[in-house]
Amino acid sequence: MPRTPPWILAAATLAGACATPPAERPEAPAEVTAVTRPDRPGLVEGPVVLVHAGQGSPAAWSDGAVRGAEAGFDALGGGASALAAAQAAVRVLEDDPRFNAGRGANLRLDGRVIECDAAVMDDAGRFGAVAGVDGVRHPVELAARILGTPHLLVAGAGANALAVRLGLERARLATDRARRKLVRAYRALFEGLPPGDPWAGFDWRAHWNFDTPPPATFEQARAQIDAAAAAAVAPAARDTVGAVVRTADGRFAAALSTGGTTLALRGRVGDVPQRGAGLFAGPFGAVAATGRGEAIVRERVAAAVYDNLAAGMPARVAIRRAIDGIRPVEGVGVIAVSRYDHGAVATSQMAWAARGEFGTVRADEYVERW
Ligand code: ASP
Repeated sequence: MPRTPPWILAAATLAGACATPPAERPEAPAEVTAVTRPDRPGLVEGPVVLVHAGQGSPAAWSDGAVRGAEAGFDALGGGASALAAAQAAVRVLEDDPRFNAGRGANLRLDGRVIECDAAVMDDAGRFGAVAGVDGVRHPVELAARILGTPHLLVAGAGANALAVRLGLERARLATDRARRKLVRAYRALFEGLPPGDPWAGFDWRAHWNFDTPPPATFEQARAQIDAAAAAAVAPAARDTVGAVVRTADGRFAAALSTGGTTLALRGRVGDVPQRGAGLFAGPFGAVAATGRGEAIVRERVAAAVYDNLAAGMPARVAIRRAIDGIRPVEGVGVIAVSRYDHGAVATSQMAWAARGEFGTVRADEYVERW
């Protein structure tokens, strides 16, 4: 059992004092700051892998994030690069059907189409991303393979064909959980979305771009989703998962994978494969975001957090300043690691975990409100 440094103990004590069951506090922001050494700024405190399982994912599901963080940390122990460790962490979550990435990816509005996005970036500025991928077990692996091409982002049919060409493992991604989630989203769509939700007032039927006709009622929507499940025509995939890594020698990388937002037209692309929106890495740290992609792109969240880290702000301050312009109805969560600390901040629940030489810290055991 690694020795727990005193500043972690302080955090854990605070967590115990604040801890309440996640279901009772759905809007509670979750954050952690650990391994911070304000007395020794600039000090690299050793390897850390910090993982999130999507803004809105219950903190009680942090066991999945722990498994991802441990996989990444073990990879680092075996000599893996920051990029390989970030990928190793994300792969574990892509296999967990509870999360909206890979195996558990969201379905688009028709209940059939799945379009996964993924991206990786390291502190040398190398960036690779894919968009609109279906049937690939580990979209993050395909994103990493883009690093070996002259491109930054490959999308749609070309990305799917590339996965086949490279022999990446195939998987049927649609899950009953994703179908139930879409049914719930349709209920909200027909019965009234919260004020300020970008889909409130949007004439989605006029923009319907699927092969089947749009449903006229909630009952019809549910029947269409059931029919798609019965036909199992196509796999479908949404909660983004992400990882940020700092190696023992102070190198950084980030990785993200998502099935997109719950309500989405075909071809919609969010923040994940856009450099500086969903993720960013450089010599001062690594950042990975989750939440409403359109808001994350608008606020250039990952790049803004990174700029704040480079300016010397502690991770949680860097994140909070960068997400100031995002409204709670949009929702965002961010994990970040810098040269001397790390943090996780979300506008609602978010399962996350951090693994370092200090041991493991997880969202359901550490919640600090501000
Ligand atoms: N950011 C993702 C997107 O907009 C969704 C998520 O984080 O759950 O595609």
